[in-house]
Amino acid sequence: MAPLPTGALNRLADAIAIATISYDDRDAVDREAFSAFHDLLEQSFPRLHQNLLREVVAEHSLLYCWPGSDPDLEPILFMSHIDVVPIEAGTEEDWAHPPFGGVLAEGHVWGRGTIDTKSTLMAVMEAIESLLEAGMNPRRSVYLAFGHDEEVGGAQGGAAIVALLRRRGVRFEYVLDEGGAVVSGQMFGIAPSVAAVGTAEKGMVNVELSTHGDQGHASMPRPDNATSRLCRAVTKVEASPYPLRMTATMASLLAQLADHMPWPRRMLLKNLWLFEHWVVRELARDPVMAAAMHTTQATTMLEGSSKANTLASRARAVVNVRLLEGDDSAGVMARIKRTIDDPEVEIRLMDELGRSEPVPPSSIEAPAFDALRETVAELFPDAVIIPHTVAGATDSRQFAPLCDNIYRFAPMRLQADDLCRIHGTDERLSFENYRTMVAFFRALVTRGVG
Ligand SMILES: [Zn+2]
Repeated sequence: MAPLPTGALNRLADAIAIATISYDDRDAVDREAFSAFHDLLEQSFPRLHQNLLREVVAEHSLLYCWPGSDPDLEPILFMSHIDVVPIEAGTEEDWAHPPFGGVLAEGHVWGRGTIDTKSTLMAVMEAIESLLEAGMNPRRSVYLAFGHDEEVGGAQGGAAIVALLRRRGVRFEYVLDEGGAVVSGQMFGIAPSVAAVGTAEKGMVNVELSTHGDQGHASMPRPDNATSRLCRAVTKVEASPYPLRMTATMASLLAQLADHMPWPRRMLLKNLWLFEHWVVRELARDPVMAAAMHTTQATTMLEGSSKANTLASRARAVVNVRLLEGDDSAGVMARIKRTIDDPEVEIRLMDELGRSEPVPPSSIEAPAFDALRETVAELFPDAVIIPHTVAGATDSRQFAPLCDNIYRFAPMRLQADDLCRIHGTDERLSFENYRTMVAFFRALVTRGVG
């Protein structure tokens, strides 16, 4: 593997040191930080900025195009996002190195955004900068799209980029975004690692349940107590989980793994037609796998009276629903209504908090996936590539109208304890990981552009 380009670690550290934080309250966003980040990119990658077309979209998002010589080839798109999540109040002191210090220490780059996901943004730019230096002239065009509000839903950046590209009639051969990584395969009881590529993505809706009753003194309770009624409704929803089911994505994941499994697991996985029920039950012991096999419903917010001795005139709860492929928000609403079966409970889809339908699976038989498979084999020779369903939402879901092959994968190795660092304390990325990432993007771009 080639060494990192000179200065690459410092450039990543500088990118981490700019606090491009997204907040639900958009007025709290530090706009200057985003402008400073744009400037940093221009200074860091001079060749790229000379050779690629750059557009600022929705004020803070960026879209680049490296024009290819053959207009008949559909371009490829690499996505990332500029914004990061805030540091949870009260945890600033827990960090070994300041979250926006841009510190290089103990073989790692430390700080918010090192995993999620300024590293992919910087690595793909490093790759293109070095390919330009080597004199590459792509036949196929390459686009880069970096949203600025992914962590709060992407309603501005990602959405505006998609609208712009739709107007221009651009379609992509494939899209690569975050949403997968190389992880240890221990959870499957196998020795090798797995390179988990998100080929499908769950949808998300929030459903508000609310009840009304007469306010009054709690010493004389009434049968139509709003809070009691709400609790009965919530209990019914919680008691009616969606049944687990084998999706096409999960079946394909297991098929990829089967050959690497010891007997008798291999036999079970190769005969899903017979053992599906058993396999689903076994997999569901792991909450991550369970979430990939049904639409989940989690009650998150609860609100009743604000006084201990007063009956609530209104009570409300919010159920956060993550939709699996095959389900949709209309179906979720109908099912919750049926489950609660009480006309006195108001049920409302909270569109103001965003809504996304599940993104159907992209094929792992497509030629586009072969490029990914070959590049994974080259840089992560010990890893078995598998498709999976991403439980969270990524900006790439908005690109579904522009592309049939959407893959979610960051070419980094994550250890078990890295998972709590994402959006948590002591987020960091090893130098070795970064070196692999730049090499991966170099190889993937080279393979793709012909
Ligand atoms: Zn992210």
